[in-house]
Amino acid sequence: MFADISFPISSYQVFTYKVPNNLKSHLSIGMRVKAPLGSRNVKGIIVDIKKTTNFIGSIKSIKEMIDDQPVLDKNLWKLIQWLSKYYNCPIGVSAKTVLPNNLSTKYELKTQLYVKAIKNDQELLNRAKIQKAVYKYLQTKQALVPVNSLKDYCSNPNDICKELYSKEFVELVKVPILPKLAGLTFDPIYKDIQFTKNQSLAIKNIISAIDSNNFKSFLLHGVTGSGKTEIYIEAARHVLRKNKTVIILLPEIALTSQIAGRFKAVFGETVAVWHSKLSRPARSWTWKKICLGEYKVVIGARSSIFAPLKNLGMIIVDEEQEDSYKQESPNPRYHARDVALIRGKINKATVVLSSATPSLESYYNSKIKKLDYIYLPERFSGKYPKVDIVDMIKESKESDKYGEIFSKLLIEKIENRLSNKEQIILLHNRRGFSPAIKCNDCGEICMCSHCKIALTFHSNGKYVQCHFCNQINTTLPEVCLKCNSYNIQLSGTGTQKIENLLKSQFSNASIARLDTDVAKSGNNITKILQDFSNRKIDILLGTQMIAKGLDFANATLVGIINADTGLYLPDYRAGEKAFQLIYQSAGRSGRGKIPGEVVIQSYNTDNAVIKHATKLELKKYYDVCLNERESLDYPPFSWIVKFEVRGTKKNHVENSINRITDSIKHMPKGIEKLGPAYCYREKLKDNYRMQIIFKSKKKYDPVGARLQKFYNSIIINSKINVSRNPQLIVDVNPTSLL
Ligand SMILES: [Zn+2]
Ligand SMILES: [Zn+2]
Repeated sequence: MFADISFPISSYQVFTYKVPNNLKSHLSIGMRVKAPLGSRNVKGIIVDIKKTTNFIGSIKSIKEMIDDQPVLDKNLWKLIQWLSKYYNCPIGVSAKTVLPNNLSTKYELKTQLYVKAIKNDQELLNRAKIQKAVYKYLQTKQALVPVNSLKDYCSNPNDICKELYSKEFVELVKVPILPKLAGLTFDPIYKDIQFTKNQSLAIKNIISAIDSNNFKSFLLHGVTGSGKTEIYIEAARHVLRKNKTVIILLPEIALTSQIAGRFKAVFGETVAVWHSKLSRPARSWTWKKICLGEYKVVIGARSSIFAPLKNLGMIIVDEEQEDSYKQESPNPRYHARDVALIRGKINKATVVLSSATPSLESYYNSKIKKLDYIYLPERFSGKYPKVDIVDMIKESKESDKYGEIFSKLLIEKIENRLSNKEQIILLHNRRGFSPAIKCNDCGEICMCSHCKIALTFHSNGKYVQCHFCNQINTTLPEVCLKCNSYNIQLSGTGTQKIENLLKSQFSNASIARLDTDVAKSGNNITKILQDFSNRKIDILLGTQMIAKGLDFANATLVGIINADTGLYLPDYRAGEKAFQLIYQSAGRSGRGKIPGEVVIQSYNTDNAVIKHATKLELKKYYDVCLNERESLDYPPFSWIVKFEVRGTKKNHVENSINRITDSIKHMPKGIEKLGPAYCYREKLKDNYRMQIIFKSKKKYDPVGARLQKFYNSIIINSKINVSRNPQLIVDVNPTSLL
């Protein structure tokens, strides 16, 4: 018997191996094994099993199985195959994404040795003083005691206990050390609520889809605070009753702790949390328990979509518009929302895409009935907040003060809330102290030496950092590289600067900042959110991490420091994203009994995005936006694929991309080419970047097959090496064209 194995390497080639006799009855397609590749044993996945092979030459044998039980069912294997084909990614690499190499059902917890006294005859130990002392102590305890806690009695407790054990004075027990999972959730309240009419209807629709045992997909469009989490819980309850399982995807690790807490309050220990900030033992242990079927609900970030749950009944994608669902690197550059739809289809499960601000694509798909549309137009409790917009240009002129961070109105309202003991959320989507360091004489901005990205100054620790490659420099730039002037100034505003200002202006308030600099660990995030939830914090300042999903009843004021951030980036989705961020942040206000308010500060109050966002006119803005997209043939009216060439030598990058362009002899009808051109971020991590965008009108190409065929032929014809330097990156449905 022979098996073809695909390895996580950039090659599409598969390799044939002999199946040793002892494994013959255990192996099947889709299982992970170790086999010799070159000089090493490498983990790979079986893609075919056959009785004979045409291969001539010596054939090596498979060494061992990675899991001791089947991890992949037929459906997950189909998903791996789809990933590979759709995202143009070798199957071994796709398999590794679904089943990470360091996870296995063979994982065993580390153990700790415990000891307990059993015999009652210490006379026999008279000659061994230390053993006697230890034994006496254990007798007083009458319980299992960790061996390494006996260091006060002897320097080598392990040896002493083993001696006692051999004389049958004690018993020794190995106890597994369970990973700490408690710090991953908070807010374990279940809101036992009376559903609104709209909520009940939504639940009824979703439940009847679950009962159909067929693939059904929904867009659950509920305004912020409309009680979507409670709908998820009811639907999940129904799925579990049918003995099926649930995946809930959340876009931010910051959100998992609160929502998982609420799920645990209802479903107890069947709920698993899954994201990249889990400790290694927690990760390995959780994964093994998912495989063993001990968890029924997996809640987590992007990669949770691959959780090896059996008998999957429902997938919920919360805040489905979020770009964090897209894996930018490495290959496969998948979008978890799209994978969710495919996994749902393969498993005949129900998929619920959910948001207060759906992506334009999903919104459009609901209009053309590709998704069933459920709308929750009103808040569960309370009204929508009152929104004030402050024209910061007018304000500066009137006050004759320029570059102020807080408007008069915002300060007034913050003071008012503080005196009422209500809470405030401030959003500013730039971390660090100053996002730019500028020469006052020539205007030059200090750039990272590896990226074409402005360096950010960080005040605590006083260093500059590139937010792309994360390189840190502790010596601050003193001289302008362009004009040699010493007149260099910190410019712009980041969250640290705002935090300092808040602390001096509102010295009696308790202020916390939440951005990726603070949120280095999952527990840290949970702690801050929990403190805010318990009203230990008055003002919570943060980046987009705090803009979505969080639910704090006592937060009655949201301030958006600069609504224009990101508005003018050269990307067709810049407006949509800016709108969603403003709308979502506004939604954090007034979710309890007390009415909420929002203050939005902007220098572009005439801009359509700002105008509609401040009036919370989502459908109006989306219709404007859809018209624009249609006239320019952008998604959702076309498919897009991005060819990016990156490499360390500028001229090599240019030559390669020209070779690609030259290899295109004919453009099929409905397909359009933009570029080649340098990317907006033309250099990242010492790599120059150029791109070509291909758009294919859905009118001629309803499922994107024409575009796929077209770009595959380009890859073949241009004979460009996808993995060398310069490298070709093919990004299917890119979320960023920067
Ligand atoms: Zn200068
Ligand atoms: Zn950099």
